[in-house]
Amino acid sequence: MHEARQNSWLNGHGSRPLCAESVGDYDPAVLPFGFPSHQGLLAPLWRVWPGRFSVIALWIGAIVPDVVDGATSIALRGRPGQWMGHSIIGLFALCVPVGLGLTTLTRRIVIRLSSPGERQGDRGMRLASRIASWALAIDVSKGLIFDARSVWMGALSHVVFDLASHEHSMLLWPWAKDPAWFGSWWHATWFRISLPGYAGYSIGPHFVGWLVLSVVGAVLFFKYPPHRTQTAGREAFMFQRRLHDGDATARSDG
Ligand SMILES: [Zn+2]
Repeated sequence: MHEARQNSWLNGHGSRPLCAESVGDYDPAVLPFGFPSHQGLLAPLWRVWPGRFSVIALWIGAIVPDVVDGATSIALRGRPGQWMGHSIIGLFALCVPVGLGLTTLTRRIVIRLSSPGERQGDRGMRLASRIASWALAIDVSKGLIFDARSVWMGALSHVVFDLASHEHSMLLWPWAKDPAWFGSWWHATWFRISLPGYAGYSIGPHFVGWLVLSVVGAVLFFKYPPHRTQTAGREAFMFQRRLHDGDATARSDG
């Protein structure tokens, strides 16, 4: 087991070039894009302290390590898998800026979709518009630092989730090699299965942990949705409106 963990680091996460044989047997694409489980585990934050976090930024933060590593890993290593986006340094250097960009983009889409004109469209558009209006009503933003904190909290929760539920961890990349955070027994492999995109997926105690956390997260997501508060909706709307107006001014100036 120890040897397997060490090989996995060298072949997949270290400086050695990847060889085709090494890909199949150790570090499959452990990036199950876990919506809504990753988001649902953050429910205590939005239920206990409504208005203290941006829900949209939290939700995007909760998936952004996979977005970052999906892009960087495929672009630079030729395959998906956990990498720098799941490390402490990556949380700050990559996940927060990428998450902020995606949060801004999402809010712009939400603003656009929730506008009165979009509510007159076909059935699909009307549904999208209703979801956008709901997203607008549950979100709140008090500026860049506020949003960055929410993205960071979401990304941190994602990485902690993966730490307990995946065969390997990149938390200390690039300084330390994949420590067995919960003991080697927790990361043991009972057997492996191959699914499309997940060749040689390790099944063991950590997989049971993943299963339990995934179910708990999904239940929390649907059972405890964010409060729809007028304050949150109004603040988010005003914030986005200022952004939108700023853009319009800039365009007319240009
Ligand atoms: Zn992940």
